[in-house]
Amino acid sequence: MSEKQYDLTIIGGGPAGLTAGLYAARSQLDVVLLEKGSLGGQVLTTEWVENYPGFPEGIGGTELMERMRDQAVRFGLQIQQANVTNVDLGGPVKKVDLADGPPVTSRALILASGAHPRKLGADGEAEFTGKGVSYCATCDGAFFTDAVIAVVGGGDMAVEEAVYLTKFGSKVYIIHRRDELRATKVLQERALDHPKIEMVWDSVVDSITGDDLVKEINLTNVKTGEKSALQAEACFIFVGTLPLTGFVDGVLELNEQGFIVTDREMATNIPGVFAAGDCTNKTLRQISTAVGEGAAAAFSAEKYLESPH
Ligand code: NAP
Repeated sequence: MSEKQYDLTIIGGGPAGLTAGLYAARSQLDVVLLEKGSLGGQVLTTEWVENYPGFPEGIGGTELMERMRDQAVRFGLQIQQANVTNVDLGGPVKKVDLADGPPVTSRALILASGAHPRKLGADGEAEFTGKGVSYCATCDGAFFTDAVIAVVGGGDMAVEEAVYLTKFGSKVYIIHRRDELRATKVLQERALDHPKIEMVWDSVVDSITGDDLVKEINLTNVKTGEKSALQAEACFIFVGTLPLTGFVDGVLELNEQGFIVTDREMATNIPGVFAAGDCTNKTLRQISTAVGEGAAAAFSAEKYLESPH
């Protein structure tokens, strides 16, 4: 077991975790951030961010996250690449077990483990993932230059990424299960007015088929029951997000969907354990809300560490 005990451990290196790290390090806490993948979280899958304040022209998702990382590291945030397997949070010392390496211990902990894309559950979805089925337009869009692309979903993510994919595809279909988009008005207008985008309303995906690569998306119209097949080489799926909170299931209070329940100060039901960002129970999942919660969680952790308990 590692000898060292930190003041604070942060799990997750997206906007919430990095902001918590910035605030905690700047308050001179001895703080380590654990991240299993690339720093930046889901923002890395966003090509261009235009609603994060302070960047009137917009900013690339990767650049924004690199700037957040550099700012936190400048004030002393320690970052460790690590895959968390288990947590022991009940006592005054919070212990985090890692897949490879000794456990990390600290007196307080912030969970900012984020969320990941929900799967559609259609036949062929798993089989063709990486062969035309994708959950990340920034990562995979360029593979489909001049191709016919389908996007599934009707929220901000689906519509924003469909517009982005028009850079590559000869045509982009948006397949949505209702006849009205959930996405914000400004994004809706951008998609509905786009000459390369065609809406496929009231439709669900039954299966995705092909040989080595995706060729066809088989649909059912939920109003008429009519079946149809859409010829497309790519199927980008954006049907919401699921929290990455499996490792605290049964440990912390979660809502029915598995998001961590916090109060306004980002405290969970266990003293000394806080949560911030997309893994928490809330309605608006944005970079701007994640950074605010990260700051609040770090402030609360600092107050907790200073208080007698
Ligand atoms: P979302 O808002 O939950 O939308 C999910 C979409 O997928 C909905 O249109 C939903 O249909 C559809 N859907 C869900 N399950 C489905 C299924 N099994 N089959 C077919 N369709 C299904 O999720 P999101 O678009 O990923 O956005 C997540 C959060 O990030 C939101 O808070 C969003 O505002 C935010 N976000 C913001 C921006 C931005 O502001 N620029 C960009 C990206 C994301 P229904 O509409 O019928 O429920």
